[in-house]
Amino acid sequence: MNIGIKNGEICYLRPHKESPPLSKKQLDVKNKIILPSLVESHIHLEKAFMLHELPKDITSLKKAIEETAKLKETLSKEEIKSRCFKVLEKSLRYGVTKMRAQVEIDPFMELRALETIVEVKEEIKHLIDLQIVAFPQEGIFFHENMELLMETAMEQGADVVGGITYNDRNLHEHLNFTFQLAKKYNADIDLHTDFSDNPEELAILDVIKWTNKYKMQGRVSVGHLTSLASIEQKKARAIAVEIAKSGITVIALPLTDFYLNGRKDEQAVRRGVTPVKLLLEEGVNVIYGSNNIQNAFTPYGEGNPIDAGALLAQVHYFYNDVEMKQLLDMITYKAANALGFNQYGLKLGHDADLAMFDTTDYTQIILSKALCEAVYRKGELVASTTVTKMNKLDIGVGSVR
Ligand SMILES: [Zn+2]
Repeated sequence: MNIGIKNGEICYLRPHKESPPLSKKQLDVKNKIILPSLVESHIHLEKAFMLHELPKDITSLKKAIEETAKLKETLSKEEIKSRCFKVLEKSLRYGVTKMRAQVEIDPFMELRALETIVEVKEEIKHLIDLQIVAFPQEGIFFHENMELLMETAMEQGADVVGGITYNDRNLHEHLNFTFQLAKKYNADIDLHTDFSDNPEELAILDVIKWTNKYKMQGRVSVGHLTSLASIEQKKARAIAVEIAKSGITVIALPLTDFYLNGRKDEQAVRRGVTPVKLLLEEGVNVIYGSNNIQNAFTPYGEGNPIDAGALLAQVHYFYNDVEMKQLLDMITYKAANALGFNQYGLKLGHDADLAMFDTTDYTQIILSKALCEAVYRKGELVASTTVTKMNKLDIGVGSVR
């Protein structure tokens, strides 16, 4: 295809064989693939790159939350900002121009992270569209003024109401609060849900009920949902059907889930990642995100959403080109659609946010993490990466397919 860009938007999109209209500037792209930019659907900016400041023996979700809470308390606005920029700079280089950040509202930092990230959102709007979720990591009803803090967060710039089904006094109380807050602010909901291997932990059943009761179909996302992988398949399928009917998006977070789940299994260790293929088969909108970068929840990564896709591919036996296409859809169109980034994609009149990969075979974007060479935001080049190659082993392997 030829892509024409004017005033930051796509204004022409026709097959390459047709001669395009004249333009002031032309870029002849050969042997590359251009995708719409990537969507990072779930990330914690202020908790990134904490790994070396944490104890060396964190092996459970509970301990990760506890130890991170101690560090969070000490975070200044300047430090929060520098962690954010470190993630944003790296993510942009990997092709991300749309992002949803889970920003912690808690009794330790109160609104410090939110206020900082609202500023960051404004400062980087020419590069990345950033959505802010008001996320109560430490629960809402364990602490005195959390209800007020959550509401103030929505007043002060949070876009989405967050929640956590596995860390509060009472689930129903928690869901009542989050759904009512979302209704009041006409906001979407994004809940950390059922993050364990425990087959009994099925808050998703209540999330489905609340979604239907509040008529929030298509506006609710759940991250993790890993307990679903521990129950018998027939029951999991029946739940998946209900998730699909309620229009709830499932956000798989394999880099964290694969690391923290399965810890108590002594043999045949469970993978602990939501059953992505089963959910897809039952018609659920499934996407995936990085969640964390180099901290107690996820010691790996540097903001490349493809890392999560490649791990998901391995954990769930993605193999052929059709499945690689599915994985790309999950961090492009499907994610943008679920998160409400409306000006997204290779369509006339939409943002010219593009990521150019150094390959002619789209499966290589996942299989070999093909280099993201250039990133365009509203038609402007905003990141480029080149790699100088030198290889003394020259036996003509370039022709091997
Ligand atoms: Zn998260």
